[in-house]
Amino acid sequence: MKYEPVIGLEVHAQLLTKSKIFCRCSTTFGADPNSQTCPICLGMPGVLPVLNKLAVEFAIKIALATECRIAENSIFARKNYFYPDLPKGYQISQYEEPLCEDGHVEIEIDGKIKMIGITRIHLEEDAGKSIHAEAFVGENETLVDVNRCGTPLIEIVGEADIRSPKAAYLYLRRLRQIVQYLEICDGNMEEGSLRCDANVSVRPLGAQEFGVKTELKNMNSFRGVEKALEFEIERQIRTLEKGGKVVQQTLLWDANKNEAIPMRGKEFAHDYRYFPEPDLVPLQIKSDWIEKIRQSLPELPSVRRNRLVEQYELPQYDADILTDSKAIADYFEETALFSGDAKAASNWIMGEVLRVLKEAQADIKDLKIKPADLATLIKLIKDGTISGKIAKFVFDEMHTSGKKPDEIIKEKGLVQISDSAELEKHVLSVIGENPDEVKKFLTGHEQVLGFLVGQIMKSTRGKANPELVNEILRKELQKLKSV
Ligand SMILES: [Zn+2]
Repeated sequence: MKYEPVIGLEVHAQLLTKSKIFCRCSTTFGADPNSQTCPICLGMPGVLPVLNKLAVEFAIKIALATECRIAENSIFARKNYFYPDLPKGYQISQYEEPLCEDGHVEIEIDGKIKMIGITRIHLEEDAGKSIHAEAFVGENETLVDVNRCGTPLIEIVGEADIRSPKAAYLYLRRLRQIVQYLEICDGNMEEGSLRCDANVSVRPLGAQEFGVKTELKNMNSFRGVEKALEFEIERQIRTLEKGGKVVQQTLLWDANKNEAIPMRGKEFAHDYRYFPEPDLVPLQIKSDWIEKIRQSLPELPSVRRNRLVEQYELPQYDADILTDSKAIADYFEETALFSGDAKAASNWIMGEVLRVLKEAQADIKDLKIKPADLATLIKLIKDGTISGKIAKFVFDEMHTSGKKPDEIIKEKGLVQISDSAELEKHVLSVIGENPDEVKKFLTGHEQVLGFLVGQIMKSTRGKANPELVNEILRKELQKLKSV
């Protein structure tokens, strides 16, 4: 029997506000443990939370970008559970009446557009962090850092519309792209600012009813999500094929072992006991505020992708890669405008720029090569000052030293030799040094030409204008033929 997976994702995104959602504590990442707290986020008796307006604005931005309906009135609830890194004993979240509902995002899979529904997006606060299994933590010891308590989150609950691990991966990438374009979340899964849980079940292909689902947690990379889903889908199918039953449970993904392990017993069997948060008034959103936010929205990735294709006459493939992150799209547009050659800019960015970023595991913002410098390099190739081969060397120099291309070319004497008289000297000496190869060429072995060009490039240390070299070499060899 063939089986079909049914996948739904819940994504938490940490909002890029400077202060927490209900108090004025800083949200800066990496500060000393427990240095960013106050009686409000610690949940001391008698304190009152005050909602951060910017967090609401950010939630409205993503609601608009995903075409959700924004509720005029929504309410906050207390989600009660006890956990060491949640000193209040409850989390303020939204439950029955969330801020946003009924949206969707589009993904492109196997050349087709597929809509993934969004059930709801709501605001909530984050919990702290339990620290165990670190060098400075003893065995059977847990340390608690409450700096993260009260950091604003949005939870994006997706419909069970996803039918493959690859689609889940693409959906998650698309959500990250949207939050990054909106500049409401940095989208970093490894650092936990974007987190994802998945509900997975399988059913016989063609069946209407969903199978028993399990929940997957602890996947902290995009590929991790894809792998975890592949693992769990296979496990469920194997269980069913052996005549067994899938048990509803929560599994933790272990990226090192590449397997999902069931969580111990009732660790997560919560009865949350939601009730309305008595310290916060209902959240009322006026339509003119929504309109104002709508006006301020940046160009979204899909719109930008289409514009790049039209405005710069780029292939769809290029536009896809370049718009993957807003920062790269910005970098491309600047380079294209400065250089006046969009396709060359695209090739350099998709090739060399992304390569060095990957090697250094760096962000394009930290790149020493500014768009104007890359544009200059492109112009220097175009006007024949340097060859494409030398340009790659110059590029690497720019990347390590941060120097301007003209500076490097001057310093290292890399200007391309386009002087015919000078090239002729090199051509003649290479012909003289390689009588056997020349003889081969003259008896019809065309491929020897490549070798001879190579020798000339070597003797000019790569600085010869390759087109001119070819031309002169052919001319000189022709002369020998007619002798
Ligand atoms: Zn606080």
